Amino acid sequence: MTHVNTVLGPVAPEMLGYVAIHEHIGYGMPGSELDTTFWKDPLVRYEETVPKLQKFASYGGRTFVDATGICNGRDIDYYKSLSAKTGVHIVACTGFVGGNTALPFFVDATVDYLYRQFMHEITVGIGGTGAKAGIIKVGVSRGGRMTELDKRIYRAAARAAVHTGVPIFTHLAIDPKPAVEIFHDEGLSLDRVLFGHVDDGINHGNTPDEWIVSQGGILGFDTFGYETQLPNPPFWARDRNDRLGHFMRWVNQDVDAVLASADANCSALGWPGQEGHTINYIFEDLIPDMKAEGASDETVERIFVTNPAKFLTLTV
Ligand SMILES: [Zn+2]
Repeated sequence: MTHVNTVLGPVAPEMLGYVAIHEHIGYGMPGSELDTTFWKDPLVRYEETVPKLQKFASYGGRTFVDATGICNGRDIDYYKSLSAKTGVHIVACTGFVGGNTALPFFVDATVDYLYRQFMHEITVGIGGTGAKAGIIKVGVSRGGRMTELDKRIYRAAARAAVHTGVPIFTHLAIDPKPAVEIFHDEGLSLDRVLFGHVDDGINHGNTPDEWIVSQGGILGFDTFGYETQLPNPPFWARDRNDRLGHFMRWVNQDVDAVLASADANCSALGWPGQEGHTINYIFEDLIPDMKAEGASDETVERIFVTNPAKFLTLTV
């Protein structure tokens, strides 16, 4: 059976439409729900989020892949209600943004424990929600070098990806060699891995994008919109034209080697979020920019419709 796991159940790949492959309903560090300054009533979060998803749908956006993961504010029942309200498919992930965002409970977790946790979330469901994860998040902890916990998470994720056919996406693509070694070791084909944030302002210079593609991996240009041209840019911002040029070089060289997204928060948890940046950057800025650079409608569809559907479809 070929399908994609969404929070409201399995969906046929051809029904996914335009996909935002790396976004957040709301991301926060563990404990952010206890912060008094940025604490938001659930109703406020809902009212901030629904119009953004409705706008996304009005542009033709049909699928939202949430990259939040365990411990960072993932809330499946909430995602279900948002999906039902807006008609946007939401794909939730299992896994962790990085070892350093895992709560102390998971710090000494073994590969086998993590593997069973990921398998349960993919094949049975997340918590008691019955919603199955459609992708696995892994990442490199702050500092840019994989920690021992990061490596155990990567190995467990690779094992679960091989056994279930769900893909993996990574937070950061710096230091990819240990990651690729683990994936090879576990027998995971690299075309099942989206190496994320190859485009951000801090890390792009140290990310060996050519090497990742030579190994068969996919490059995630997935922090579009965090640009130095914003009024209060974040530390990972990058010049708009510089990023676009980097992306278009890949689009022209090997369109199947890239996926793109905005990494926006519909309603950030425990931090102000980035003012003026939403998922709709994809339709309002990125696609028009790509077309101005000569990308055809067919190329745009390949990056936002055909290839993400192929990537998200369970292979076993
Ligand atoms: Zn993200």
